Amino acid sequence: MELDGSLVSLMKELYPICRSITGEGVRETLRIIQKRIPLEMREVPSGTKVFDWTVPLEWNVSDAYVMDRAGKRVIDFQSHNLHLMSYSVPVRKKMSLEELRPHLFSLPAHPGWIPYRTSYYKENWGFCLRHADVERLSDEEYDVVIDSTLQAGFLTYGEAYLPGEVSEEVLVSCHVCHPSLCNDNLSGIAVAVKLAETMAARARRYSYRFLFIPGTIGSITWLAQNEQTVSRIRHGLVVTGVGDAGNVTYKKSRQGNAEMDRAMTHVLRHAGEAHSIIDFFPYGYDERQFCSPGFNLPVGCFMRTPHGQYPEYHSSADNLDLIRPESLSGSYEHCLKVFELLEGNRVYVNQSPKCEPQLGRRGLYRSVAGQQENQSRELALLWVLNMSDGRHALLDIADRADLPFGQIQSAADALVGAGLLKELQRPGSA
Ligand code: ZN
Repeated sequence: MELDGSLVSLMKELYPICRSITGEGVRETLRIIQKRIPLEMREVPSGTKVFDWTVPLEWNVSDAYVMDRAGKRVIDFQSHNLHLMSYSVPVRKKMSLEELRPHLFSLPAHPGWIPYRTSYYKENWGFCLRHADVERLSDEEYDVVIDSTLQAGFLTYGEAYLPGEVSEEVLVSCHVCHPSLCNDNLSGIAVAVKLAETMAARARRYSYRFLFIPGTIGSITWLAQNEQTVSRIRHGLVVTGVGDAGNVTYKKSRQGNAEMDRAMTHVLRHAGEAHSIIDFFPYGYDERQFCSPGFNLPVGCFMRTPHGQYPEYHSSADNLDLIRPESLSGSYEHCLKVFELLEGNRVYVNQSPKCEPQLGRRGLYRSVAGQQENQSRELALLWVLNMSDGRHALLDIADRADLPFGQIQSAADALVGAGLLKELQRPGSA
């Protein structure tokens, strides 16, 4: 499928880049995304206060290695960017193996995998390597070089805003702060880019805002800078870890019964695939910030296998081999269906509410009565007529009737066409 191809090719292009919560890797990533969607790059200076946090120094790295006495790089950032702990301070020193050991990280249970480690908020340095390679280290002394900079600079993030008929927004957020890791960060980026491309090409009722931000500090910074306008966010999704072979997991917003929670629940239930829906908990991705009590935004988290629940998580085994193109495209389709539902979830009023109007006379009862497929179509018409008292939106009706939203929406469209239904104009909307 073309769709799978475009998602995977974007991930391949982004995979080699050394990203972190700040620095050139994030800018390079955003510049690649800019080729596909209208993305604004924003830069917030180091030292800026953002609620209880401070935007950190910008980190960049050009080279890092551990060299043995024969002049061979036994650990080399150039061969895999996971080899260097993210935010490692500069180092240039000869040291004994014993001095070096506390700075080496490996995974004894998976000796062929390189772990992913960070130290953003505590000055430190370290190398991550395959456990098999740790066991081969035997020289007494090594040259340790980390050619990195930690300087006043910027936190960079990307924002794509697609204005709709109304200023109320659908927010989509994904993190862009992980280096060469595929499911954790690149899959969410790829699906968010594709959703933005699709929505940019469509007529929209809602406005859509896509954020490509470093995890935690990025969402905190964004919220601090947009505190005055976050009330426009009517629906939101954090999209992350959407490319593995696992089933879809949807983590509800803190509100628990937001329209987004109900829309996603409805779409997944009618998709006919195994999935799980879990309640909010204050751990995970940027929903932690969007759903902090001072904001309590209706933002859920859409993923497949939750973070930490697959062995490849935060290791070099989270690479392109872990990604299933059909998982990416399936994730995209579910999210798009949810957006379509939100766009169409309107409130109507029955214009002929005293007893049932005569549908046959208006051509709404098609062909011969009693046929199976006509029955559910007729049932959808009757549900929409009965519940369209101005207090129930189409999703309420679809859930009550236990029919797919699309069927209820088609029934409503037919009834509007026949003059039996009128949309209730919400106060304040165009
Ligand atoms: Zn992660």
